[in-house]
Amino acid sequence: MSDSLKGAPRPASESAAEAVARYCREHGIPLPRRREYLPRWHPNIQAYLRNKWEHNAPGVWACYCATCEKRFYARHPAGYCSPACTDAARHERERERRMRAKAGRTCAHCGAPLSTVARADSRYCSPACRQAAYRGRQVSGCPQLTSRNAP
Ligand SMILES: [Zn+2]
Ligand SMILES: [Zn+2]
Repeated sequence: MSDSLKGAPRPASESAAEAVARYCREHGIPLPRRREYLPRWHPNIQAYLRNKWEHNAPGVWACYCATCEKRFYARHPAGYCSPACTDAARHERERERRMRAKAGRTCAHCGAPLSTVARADSRYCSPACRQAAYRGRQVSGCPQLTSRNAP
């Protein structure tokens, strides 16, 4: 905007945004930043969207968060109210995936099912089986090593 508007009465062609900018300049107020986006989970935006939704404005959706089950408003159908709830859901999915990967494992020695609380890299149902498997490997051994040790 040019300085020619400074102090001049508001021309009919001046938009509201231009009027604000002119007012700020005349009163030494820093101009509001043009593209200051608040995220949609910001309370102000939620209040704004809820108001629009309550007045049946098009393009506003009332959604329920799949994590915290709170109602929220968005411009597109959305599953989660905030990044925190999105992250929580992702962590929960990863935890379930790990649990599924753990289920159905069996002991590499005796074949008994492994507990789902066992570590992801555990292969034996008990220290006894791990020991037995270790001893078994020692006995069968590596052929080259045993032949070298043979007389
Ligand atoms: Zn939520
Ligand atoms: Zn076992």
